[in-house]
Amino acid sequence: MVSGDSARRLGVIGHPVGHSRSPAMQQAALDALGIEAVYELWDTPADQLAARVAELRRPEYLGANVTIPHKLAVMALLDEIAPEARATGAANTIVRSETADGVRLAGHNTDVAGLERALAESTDAADVRHVLVLGAGGAARAALAVARRWNAMACVAARDAAKARMTLRGIAIADLGDRDELAAALSTADLLINATPAGMASQDETPLAPELLAALPGDAFVFDMIYEPPETALVRAARARGLRASGGLPMLLYQGAAAFTLWTGHEAPIAVMRAALGIAGDW
Ligand code: NAP
Repeated sequence: MVSGDSARRLGVIGHPVGHSRSPAMQQAALDALGIEAVYELWDTPADQLAARVAELRRPEYLGANVTIPHKLAVMALLDEIAPEARATGAANTIVRSETADGVRLAGHNTDVAGLERALAESTDAADVRHVLVLGAGGAARAALAVARRWNAMACVAARDAAKARMTLRGIAIADLGDRDELAAALSTADLLINATPAGMASQDETPLAPELLAALPGDAFVFDMIYEPPETALVRAARARGLRASGGLPMLLYQGAAAFTLWTGHEAPIAVMRAALGIAGDW
């Protein structure tokens, strides 16, 4: 809980980090609740990560967000790891607290809660029996955690299927480059989640050939974690086929809201944060 007696500091640790939309969203939330704190961009190359995290032990800090490429490496620098972060093997939020034993830094993963809340806006957990996740990195692990929570079967399609089989033991893996394997996995999926960055750099790039979307059941939901651009080529292609689809902005919003509550103890002002992301109407 925030004491309110002096300005506190929060920020996002990443490299590069200039593109992050968290400062605008989190500062708007802090200001709306009258919490005296600033949220900053902390560009942190890998060789400065340990020093940056050590700095968070000072009294002026409430905690931090952690983004690419530090979500995995940061875990070794923290005093405790919350269950969701342990299950996904990645932390995107650090919370500083003071206990009788001294200052503690805890690692959390709010991508899981953020994704779950974003998906729940558009689809009913009870209707999702099969999830197909594209990509096998940190964000894919958050998607697999939601599939577990929803008791759904999960399959991962990765461009390096052999590597994915090594890192995601016990999960069915398809080869993202094998059209037949992919079509078979798509044909049973109620939910397709893109957890690759394919579609970020180029407005036309898709993680799979768009015509393969025809293999999805007609009532499937397509969720692209990418939020910049807000509507990717994958989302456009899915909608063009009459499928329900969403970009990653709702996940960004709700993972940020969950982090805000962890740092401040307050419910996040969702409407304020949504407006700060520039979302006026529908997603
Ligand atoms: P990551 O750990 O680097 O994993 C990326 C995965 O995608 C890896 O399996 C990688 O394969 C694969 N990949 C990379 N480029 C690809 C391509 N062109 N085609 C097919 N597969 C490709 O990254 P991450 O942290 O999981 O993030 C993935 C995406 O999710 C990013 O776009 C990120 O912005 C987004 N994200 C959004 C939110 C949100 O709040 N909306 C939250 C978290 C992440 P290799 O291992 O072979 O390289």
